[in-house]
Amino acid sequence: MKALTKTNPGYDQMELLDMQEPKATKNFVKIKVEYSGICGSDLHSFKGEYGNIKTPVVLGHEFSGTVVEVGEEVKEIKIGDRVTSETTFETCGTCDYCKSKDYNLCPSRKGIGTQVNGSFAEYVLSREESVHVLPDNVSFLAASLTEPLACCVHAALEKTTIDKDDVVLILGPGPIGLLLAQVVKSQGAKVILSGVTKDKERLEFGKKLGVDVIVDSLQEDLEKIVMEKTNGYGVNRAFDCSGAVPAVNQGLRLIKKKGEFVQVGLFANIKNPLDQEAIIQREIKYVGSRSQKPSSWIKSLELMEAKKVDPEALITKIVDLKDWRSGIEAAMEGTELKVVIRS
Ligand SMILES: [Zn+2]
Ligand SMILES: [Zn+2]
Repeated sequence: MKALTKTNPGYDQMELLDMQEPKATKNFVKIKVEYSGICGSDLHSFKGEYGNIKTPVVLGHEFSGTVVEVGEEVKEIKIGDRVTSETTFETCGTCDYCKSKDYNLCPSRKGIGTQVNGSFAEYVLSREESVHVLPDNVSFLAASLTEPLACCVHAALEKTTIDKDDVVLILGPGPIGLLLAQVVKSQGAKVILSGVTKDKERLEFGKKLGVDVIVDSLQEDLEKIVMEKTNGYGVNRAFDCSGAVPAVNQGLRLIKKKGEFVQVGLFANIKNPLDQEAIIQREIKYVGSRSQKPSSWIKSLELMEAKKVDPEALITKIVDLKDWRSGIEAAMEGTELKVVIRS
């Protein structure tokens, strides 16, 4: 089979290689891949900036497809099932995090498309426990974005809660910010989505998805707008999906006292000058949210089945696996919202 492989560390070092098809043994399931989303982390891997991958490895971790083979220990999943899969390939199974199915926190976790071969290929392997059968009304294309959606569900509905009376500030209108906005809207809350001038189209797209207020924070006074919408108190909750220090520091001062701030975006640097004074004086809960876990996937598929979120709306470009390079380039230019590879 053809498989898009990061062959060595460093810039590019990616090749569409001929590779033996994986075989489903024991509790593993072999999936014929339909679509795989290109994630920001795949772009970091392309540029050689992502320390977490083990080369050579087939990239791709946001995918959907059809089961074509199951191992002898597989119980529920059947050949022909339309599925998506969590990115967890292997965990220790014994640590405190594994016991509570917080697999995203297991120190021995191995992920699909980072430490083991991923979905930018014709076939991919996953363990049965990670595989989810798609509701009939969820398309392969929509399902290929279950992983980023699950990251948003984890942040919004597991690391904090959303009440219908909340006013929520989301910083950063990229694919994650726009999916998160849909998740927050699905709970009935109001959303203020903030970006910078180059995000104009993305902000306007947010409006189409149901965002209540969009703000270009370079051209408009975000603080004034937030205070107007919240009787001068500030928002109950904010989510950073930008990883930009100035955005986070601005956001920390726009939260109502005792409110919560969830950090979803990854920073370029490990240590950053954050406004701790705002956290202390406003008694803010500053919470980290790391990827997703099994419960986030179940909720994500329910939201898609109920048509409360529409990840497919974010996909602006689809390329065939053989044309992967044009897909990566388009995603890097930042003009496309979400690029998907068709296997
Ligand atoms: Zn991803
Ligand atoms: Zn573990």
